[in-house]
Amino acid sequence: MTKKPQIKAIIFDVGGVLFLPKNPTIIKKRGHCTLGVHQQISNKLKISLDQWFDLIDSIYADSIEGRATEKKALSVISRNIKTNPGKLKKIILRAYLNNFTQNKKLYSLAFKLKKLGYKIAILSDQWPVSQEALMPKKLYKNFDQVIVSCNVGMRKPNPKIYRLLLKKLKLPAKNTVFIDNQTWNIKPAKKLGMKTILFKDNKQCFRELKKLGIKKV
Ligand SMILES: [Mg+2]
Repeated sequence: MTKKPQIKAIIFDVGGVLFLPKNPTIIKKRGHCTLGVHQQISNKLKISLDQWFDLIDSIYADSIEGRATEKKALSVISRNIKTNPGKLKKIILRAYLNNFTQNKKLYSLAFKLKKLGYKIAILSDQWPVSQEALMPKKLYKNFDQVIVSCNVGMRKPNPKIYRLLLKKLKLPAKNTVFIDNQTWNIKPAKKLGMKTILFKDNKQCFRELKKLGIKKV
């Protein structure tokens, strides 16, 4: 019997894993965990959801990959609506905070695992505004590695961002498990040789961690 490679690090996504949408029914219907955020922003700005998506179009993508600063993104978006960048930022921050809630069970599991000697890490796509809302420093300072797309100039599912994290963890892919709620983010991780968990809920996630030989889950 061949021995299973030992897991030494657990890597977590943030949106949809360590932070969960407060209203899970919209995701089931429409498929994306930030939809509630965008809905609330467009309501607040009194425009349609489609108009909002048109407004943020490429600047949102640019800022997730660090090609546009927060200041630039907010000024581009607010140019076409009757609000200023400062007000817009407040509306967006509030929308993230209202629509997401910390997955405390998974957080406490992460720190339990750290105490047992596992490394814990974050691999997350964020633009600066969502990073400020969902990633306050105090919640992440005790992770061994934290990689956020807008800070490193690339995003999932680009394999380079996974490799960067593995390099920082100083571990081969086979000794890590990556937890994410999107199938397209899981694929490159698997290809690199990481173990993967497509996150559905805590119960399923804990079960799959156990299957990978992680004790005390
Ligand atoms: Mg996610």
